[in-house]
Amino acid sequence: REKLLEIKDLKKHFKLDRKNVLKAVDGITFDIYKGETFGLVGESGCGKSTAGRAIMRLYSATEGKIEFGGEDVHQAKSKKMLKEFNRSMQMIFQDPYASLNPRMTIKDIIAEGIDIHALIQSPKERTARINQLLEIVGLNKDHGNRYPHEFSGGQRQRIGIARALAVSPEFIVADEPISALDVSIQAQVVNLLKRLQREHGLTYLFIAHDLSMVKHISDRVGVMYLGKMAEIAKSDELYHEPLHPYTQALISAIPIANPRIERSRERIILEGDVPSPVNPPSGCSFRTRCPLAMDVCAKVEPTWQEYKEEHWVACHVYDENYNAEHKARENQK
Ligand code: SF4
Ligand code: MG
Repeated sequence: REKLLEIKDLKKHFKLDRKNVLKAVDGITFDIYKGETFGLVGESGCGKSTAGRAIMRLYSATEGKIEFGGEDVHQAKSKKMLKEFNRSMQMIFQDPYASLNPRMTIKDIIAEGIDIHALIQSPKERTARINQLLEIVGLNKDHGNRYPHEFSGGQRQRIGIARALAVSPEFIVADEPISALDVSIQAQVVNLLKRLQREHGLTYLFIAHDLSMVKHISDRVGVMYLGKMAEIAKSDELYHEPLHPYTQALISAIPIANPRIERSRERIILEGDVPSPVNPPSGCSFRTRCPLAMDVCAKVEPTWQEYKEEHWVACHVYDENYNAEHKARENQK
């Protein structure tokens, strides 16, 4: 498999005042393969949107590196390459209304990228392309002359998708694209995204706060907690064999569709709230809520390791050097 994106020890810190720094993203490393959907999940404030925005260069990185097709996105070597990043990486937003200019017609919104990148010269071709895009996303050409407020949430998201698609991107960051939509509309938009992925060979970074939402969409899933990556695995493996105590808790909270067939899981209730990313706990940032926390967890940050093939985790329970304490306690039970 070909890597399309390589994110290496990415950090995005925001200076709040002279003393305080918000460590929104605090050192995450992962790859996104060409043609896959990588789901990125975690509670609000865990840094997943910030990570998505740093990858899109809407934020500069505080530290670390993001490579797209082997090229550093924050260090474009030429204007041409910068334009190429701008075209081939697109974003779909959570609130399609806020991201659509209310004073622009739908056709001009959709054609914005086409115009910026001068992808089409003749007005006739431009109109044909807009109509084609409207059709691809399930709207019709009469919609082109209207304004964003005339559309429903689901239709607006379709417009946002058409706008992203207009410049024939390779990679799309979808930041909670269905969270604001009615449940009845969510599946339609997901199906549209899936179809477009097949037909256009797209790669997605699909950001969501809810694990059950990314379950069916994603090939692989990354779970973030307090600015760090807790675990990454293939979607199925993550659901059936979660390693990290945080992932285990998230999965235990997903309602079971058919309790008569599926083995019941014990619900793991996490104590307390997510600590502030301004003052994260020492050692493992999850330790204040972790049911398995050991002494070492307060002192040493767990390393990010590939514990099983293509299954990454950061937790001392899986760390040869430190899991003796965990094992000893398990044996006492
Ligand atoms: Fe829990 Fe320790 Fe693992 Fe962190 S390192 S998740 S506190 S067991
Ligand atoms: Mg967000």
